[in-house]
Amino acid sequence: MTHPLLDLPPLTAARFAAIERRVAALLETRQDVVIMQGEALLPLEGCIRGGARRGSTALNIVTGPYGRTFGDWLRDCGAEVVDLAVPFHTAVTAEQVRAALAARPETGFVSLVHAEAATGNTNPVAEIGEAVRAHGALLMVDAVASVAAEPLRVDAWGVDLCVIGAQKAMGGPAGVSAVSVSDRAWERMAANAGAPRRSYLSLLDWKERWIDTGRRALPHAPAQLEMLALEACLDRIEAEGPRAVRERHASAAAAVRAGAVALGGGLAPFVREAAEAAPVATTLRAPEGVDAGELVASALASDPSLPLVAGGGSLAKELVRVNHHGADATRGTVRSSLAALGAALAAQGRAVDVEGALRAADGCW
Ligand SMILES: *Cc1c(COP(=O)(O)O)cnc(C)c1O
Repeated sequence: MTHPLLDLPPLTAARFAAIERRVAALLETRQDVVIMQGEALLPLEGCIRGGARRGSTALNIVTGPYGRTFGDWLRDCGAEVVDLAVPFHTAVTAEQVRAALAARPETGFVSLVHAEAATGNTNPVAEIGEAVRAHGALLMVDAVASVAAEPLRVDAWGVDLCVIGAQKAMGGPAGVSAVSVSDRAWERMAANAGAPRRSYLSLLDWKERWIDTGRRALPHAPAQLEMLALEACLDRIEAEGPRAVRERHASAAAAVRAGAVALGGGLAPFVREAAEAAPVATTLRAPEGVDAGELVASALASDPSLPLVAGGGSLAKELVRVNHHGADATRGTVRSSLAALGAALAAQGRAVDVEGALRAADGCW
């Protein structure tokens, strides 16, 4: 008997290339898009190891936990790293980036996370891109948590290396990712003696063996199930319309924020300015004296399918995350999440207004 996941015809090079073209359209870019067969950390590490030269200076913008990882890779490549860190409940400004570049004119590489799912903030890539382009450095953007949830305009914003994954707002699997590469980025990687070659991390290998040969033969067997799932994500996004998908995420974020404020009980938005809150996920600060992990466990006891998690690392005790992305960016999931958090707070003796929270949330759609 044939099995739907196992007995598949081979994925052709033409189909692989067509999926790349559709990812490029989603990113609004005419640059080369390379699909990488692994979680998004694979192209992120590939971009940094390919783009950061030994002895060069890199500006690493830290607005959440991923920025720290990038700084470690940049240092490992032998780059001198200038960390520009802002409090995780805010966004970085283009002005701060401009000042950091002016202080270190030799900066050749800038790494930035667009939206931070872990902390719930989003950064103004359009304005930052303008500042970086005026300076001449390469700009790498981690757009894993922004793609499909908010505008992402790679060419208009001058992003040289834009990395996406399918597992957040695209509603897909975590095992496949993609990166767009500008001509400038290809040139600098080719000139970097330390850039990975004959390596799974090498973007240059893909250029040589796949792009420059006309995308006719895949360098190795494709991760077929992930590619089919990525194709299905694109089908779904294109059918709904990328703008409608973004609006659904923006509404979900606004609804959770407004609902949490109306709920009361001491729950409060973690990102202070609504304009700096990411559409992909909303972070909430647990009330004084309430452990976020326990609150989430109590809320999930009534419905384990809700997209609620406690923060990671140093934020584990204070942060509640509502991951309203992909199929969870709906009115129903937002309502259920607010009601469950309200019940969990009430169980701790906090005064909450669940009806008011649901009304406030409904007003955001
Ligand atoms: C989710 C995410 C990734 C991918 O990491 P996972 O935790 O493995 O999903 C990378 N960068 C950012 C900014 C993300 O939000």
